[in-house]
Amino acid sequence: MSENIQGGKALPQVRNLVTAIPGPKSEAIMARKKAAVASGVGHALGVSIVAGGDGVLLDADGNSLIDLGSGIAVTGVGNSAPRVVEAVQQQVAQFTHTCFTVTPYEGYIAVAEKLNELTPGDFEKRSALFNSGAEAVENAIKIARHYTKRNAVVVFDHAYHGRTNLTMGMTAKNMPYKDGFGPFAPEVYRVPTSYPYRDGLTGIEAAEVALTQIEKQVGSKNVAAIIIEPIQGEGGFIAPAAGFLPALQEWATENGVVFILDEVQTGFARTGQMFAAEFEGVVPDMVTVAKGIAGGLPLSGVTGRAEIMDSAHAGGLGGTYTGSPIACAAALATIETYKEENLLERAQQIQAIIEEVFGELAKTDDRIGDIRGRGAMMAVELVESGSKTPNAALTGAVAKIAGEQGVIALICGTFGNVIRFLPALTISDELLREGLQVVVDAIKAN
Ligand SMILES: *Cc1c(COP(=O)(O)O)cnc(C)c1O
Repeated sequence: MSENIQGGKALPQVRNLVTAIPGPKSEAIMARKKAAVASGVGHALGVSIVAGGDGVLLDADGNSLIDLGSGIAVTGVGNSAPRVVEAVQQQVAQFTHTCFTVTPYEGYIAVAEKLNELTPGDFEKRSALFNSGAEAVENAIKIARHYTKRNAVVVFDHAYHGRTNLTMGMTAKNMPYKDGFGPFAPEVYRVPTSYPYRDGLTGIEAAEVALTQIEKQVGSKNVAAIIIEPIQGEGGFIAPAAGFLPALQEWATENGVVFILDEVQTGFARTGQMFAAEFEGVVPDMVTVAKGIAGGLPLSGVTGRAEIMDSAHAGGLGGTYTGSPIACAAALATIETYKEENLLERAQQIQAIIEEVFGELAKTDDRIGDIRGRGAMMAVELVESGSKTPNAALTGAVAKIAGEQGVIALICGTFGNVIRFLPALTISDELLREGLQVVVDAIKAN
């Protein structure tokens, strides 16, 4: 174990490679991983991390890498953010666990109050906390079914909702998430989404297609909930055309269907608003949150209308570790950090830089099919020259070259042809531009 290595603000914000990537120490640790860890637990880049802070991860060989993924949109406030470190250290020294459903504590309640205050909608709300995004989604569905006394759940093409049995079934993409892992839970129905780059439809037209399919194939009175990511994450950072989400919401309200936004990836300042729902003034009946909420500690939540959330009987919701006091302390510090450091505004600046850099490249390279997303949740969809055919080969090559050059760039999309950028909101302009340039050069060289 490495000792006395400081992350957070102590970590110099530079890309600095002192060995090949991966270096010999990382390689030795990855050999141990292969021998000890199940193969199904993959990794994007075979380096072993010893410290992280803002835009940088430091590996075991002393390489300083630019992190354009922030652990999949989790460390929005930066790794080991000072307020988070302090809050966690204080909480750990006080008590580590009681199980909230045995003997409660204030931190959980304070996080619930924050969620009720920050999520869209000025009606009375309640929240419940869990550990992971998938667990929040599962519980949102549990509650919606209990409230409506209906079974059917409507999900969308390209959706990602997690890896538990129910959420696997709700997720669209077979490889790697579902293949061979069935059977999946029943009463999950998938309908087309709005994918402006590929479907050429307005939001209203796309909603018409989806809603007609729901009415004809499921029947509106059987539907407990519609759940959708306001910008699809793993599915390719697909932002629906304007009007799509409001039309779904309106239909749900008219038909007694609980409208749930899965903001696990988009929530907490990531898109330049606290929640992505805010762009179109969409007010979900329920929202699920996780990733960016607690500065890296595992925590998730479901927030919704009081009458829906309170419909489940006492004892019906919970879990041993749900709303851990340590994670709650981290969440309160994280939420304060987004506000105190003006990170919503910062996400908007990050969007402008990414649009500028790839907009410039798109002028001369028609394999940049689409540049999309919001805030610090941006992506480029790569296609074959002169067409819209997904170019997964180029995408894979670019991510690999970037990794070797010390830039962590993640891939997503149903067709594996989207490079996504999810930096910490605290990354510097300089470091962001350097990381993006490595990606641009890798595209040009292929
Ligand atoms: C990551 C993600 C999940 C699952 O969260 P986990 O914490 O990995 O279980 C669910 N929904 C969306 C939109 C996500 O991006």
